[in-house]
Amino acid sequence: MKNKHIPELLCPSGDMASLLGAISAGADAVYLGLDIFNARIRADNFTLDNVSEAISLCHAHGVKVFVTLNIAIYEKEIPLLLEYASRLWTAGVDAVIVSDLGIITLLREHFPELEIHASTQCTAHNLDGVSMLQKMGCKRVVVARELDKKNISYIKSNTSAEIEAFVHGAHCMSVSGQCLMSYALGGRSGNRGECAQPCRLPYSINKKQSYMLSLKDMSLAPHLSELSDIGVDSYKIEGRMKSDAYVYGVGSIYRRLIDNGRNAEKGELRTLEALFSRQGFTDGYFKGAIDSSMLGVRSEDDKVRTSNIATDIPELKKPQITVSARFVLGEKATLTLRYSGKSATVYADIVEEAKNAPMSKEDIIKSLSKFGQTPFELGAIEIEKSDNIMVRVSKLNALRREAVSKLLSYGREPIDPIYKPKSICASKDKIRSAFFLDPDKIPDDVSYFDRIYVYVDRYKRDKRINGIALPPVIFDNEWTSIEKMLEKAKNDGIKYALVSNIGQIERVKKYGFISQANFRFNAFNRPCVRFLHDLGFDSVIMSPELSLRQLEDFKGESVVAYGKIPVMTTHKCILKDSVGCDKCKGYMKDRVDAEFYAEGIFSHRNVIFNSVPVYMADKIDEISSFSHHFIFTDESKDECAGIIYAYKNKIKSLKGFRRIK
Ligand SMILES: [Zn+2]
Repeated sequence: MKNKHIPELLCPSGDMASLLGAISAGADAVYLGLDIFNARIRADNFTLDNVSEAISLCHAHGVKVFVTLNIAIYEKEIPLLLEYASRLWTAGVDAVIVSDLGIITLLREHFPELEIHASTQCTAHNLDGVSMLQKMGCKRVVVARELDKKNISYIKSNTSAEIEAFVHGAHCMSVSGQCLMSYALGGRSGNRGECAQPCRLPYSINKKQSYMLSLKDMSLAPHLSELSDIGVDSYKIEGRMKSDAYVYGVGSIYRRLIDNGRNAEKGELRTLEALFSRQGFTDGYFKGAIDSSMLGVRSEDDKVRTSNIATDIPELKKPQITVSARFVLGEKATLTLRYSGKSATVYADIVEEAKNAPMSKEDIIKSLSKFGQTPFELGAIEIEKSDNIMVRVSKLNALRREAVSKLLSYGREPIDPIYKPKSICASKDKIRSAFFLDPDKIPDDVSYFDRIYVYVDRYKRDKRINGIALPPVIFDNEWTSIEKMLEKAKNDGIKYALVSNIGQIERVKKYGFISQANFRFNAFNRPCVRFLHDLGFDSVIMSPELSLRQLEDFKGESVVAYGKIPVMTTHKCILKDSVGCDKCKGYMKDRVDAEFYAEGIFSHRNVIFNSVPVYMADKIDEISSFSHHFIFTDESKDECAGIIYAYKNKIKSLKGFRRIK
């Protein structure tokens, strides 16, 4: 019989109570965040002070701890981030979960042995993306939640990187790492962990209002045997904002399913739904069955079911320690602690003869039995001692503490990283580039621009077009058609490529395009920009989330100087139920009647654009030290020409807009 693959059960914990819930449920590993650098900043989270305690507790129970450092990091935050990483390293963290490409390279450089997992925020959705992240030093990659079974299987069978997949919990409407909705609406950046969840609000298209961005929670509990056949290494449960009862309840069901090697039965699914759901669960992405049945909101019914379910979390029993100590005259004092196959031995000074009152066995037992402040309790104790010896009580206590910490830590040498920003080698020539969503809207005279990009699947031979843009998401089974398009464009003499994802770089290189990195890489800092240049990009479009002041470090790189920035990229069409997919374009209105243009793109994904464009024509001098990128979406051909005219002549806008401030 072939060895049955046993995946890791990875549970969330937003605070100490849910951490205990996760351990009690039988988690193999937990992930948790600190008070900063963390994508769930609204959870209670942990601090540098109590995270060591959390790690010790988990390690005592044989549970691994992964700490999330999974937000985009500003340049000025890097020294503090490295300090945090250093503290986590010595505290014995098992891995850090990172989303910022620059930070991955930096941590790899400063902490060669620290295990790094690439967050789902890295938008890894194809084999090339996973391979690139592995090459950067990530041992594990969390793959995009939108992948179907075949695509997960393809990735897993072709990589040696560990693959972690979400199996249960909330879905994001936007592909992770590609959502600026919360930022655009109220300045609370999802990429910085501040998501205000605008996807849970109602919107309307053609006056038809619905919760078109609110997905049901996912549950792959009915598909665990398929995931196990694929060989997915880690099953991740979402929910760092959820209660300890939720973490325990969901975790213990998955523990049982993994241990029994089976899928959930109806009763178990009902319990999972009662613990938390939004009108039931969806497995639409996994099955590739993508339709409006995937949508759902938290109903009154759901809330009643949750309040009716009683979850008793069993009290966590402390692991029992076996203590053996030797105090033999003329030899070094020795203390050994043992539990569940692990042991730690520590030594103290040579044991001396007592001058006054000798130490009794009971005195020694008393000192060596105190495990109150540790995650352990005393099991058996065995003392071997000579008569008439003297050992100070303070020595005994110190010896016990040393042994406990040795038992829990990895004996890691402290690392004190010093951040030296590297040059980012931006090109000297400033570039003006423009992306046209609709190639038919390209004005006749586009001599203002050096590069004109259109989506590669919309590309037709046209003397104005000299660049192709790759769609934001390309699954492995879609490469064959994309590569044909790339080849055609290359044969037509197209020179430039606008690249959107870490999983596209190698293919584009293969065709020899001069490549520019789109803002979709979320470039926030110098290590990220440097990394992208090292990969061969001649120019990087910086994240539109950066302020003018934050951009100062990146002179010579590109900024979005004009246009509606995509605020969401969705795998499910939001237009199907309103305007229909023949047209697959329309305006989504929010509750204050702001209009977001949405359109179906390659492979019928949608891009939703911001309601107002970035506009800097009259403030162009403020961004004169950067290359400029323009995004044309729903403008008419004449309006596009008008924008070019306005930027040439520094003309003020009469419509609503946003600035780079
Ligand atoms: Zn559609």
